[in-house]
Amino acid sequence: MEKSESKNNPENKSEIIINRKTPLSEVLKLGQVCSKCGHCCRHGSGCLARGDLKKIAEFLKMDEKEVEQRYLEAVEKFNTILFRPKLIREEGKPYGKCVFMKPDNSCSIQEAKPLQCKVGNCTEHGERLNLWFMLNYHLNENDPESVRQFAVYLKCGGKTLLGAELNDLIKDQEKLRKIITYKIFR
Ligand code: SF4
Ligand code: SF4
Repeated sequence: MEKSESKNNPENKSEIIINRKTPLSEVLKLGQVCSKCGHCCRHGSGCLARGDLKKIAEFLKMDEKEVEQRYLEAVEKFNTILFRPKLIREEGKPYGKCVFMKPDNSCSIQEAKPLQCKVGNCTEHGERLNLWFMLNYHLNENDPESVRQFAVYLKCGGKTLLGAELNDLIKDQEKLRKIITYKIFR
């Protein structure tokens, strides 16, 4: 894989580059590394994408609506709503244990777990793998509100990957200016 660095992204010269267009197959390979300590599942859960709801429903032998109602909660980022497994929160805490985490730290839906659980991990690539997921599944360059919220995120110091600065997403600078200034509303 290529190597380089860029302003406003967490790449390091000596590390593998993960950009927004890195194929899912590559990302999944990097995401496989996990010692199954359960730390991440004790404090959150990963978002569903690409037909995960259907896979989970088939795995649990339930219909999709029932899975949604019993086990999932919605999260919104960059004007995109995705589902993730519910978190069992202690009172007053914003984080909690994933509803599918078993007492031995394993995942009760391992074969059908959400895409973000498959691509994210805590290795040296973990941050960029999560950025890859965010840029591919939360950010929507065809939705002006999503682009505006992403612009605010970047302005506040939010990280991105190579090829996913605002100018990369919207190459027409006049259009980008109109989106940011609400001349193009939706
Ligand atoms: S679905 Fe499985 S892998 Fe994903 S957070 Fe829950 S327990 Fe962990
Ligand atoms: S990704 Fe990391 S924190 Fe999460 S279970 Fe695997 S080793 Fe533990």
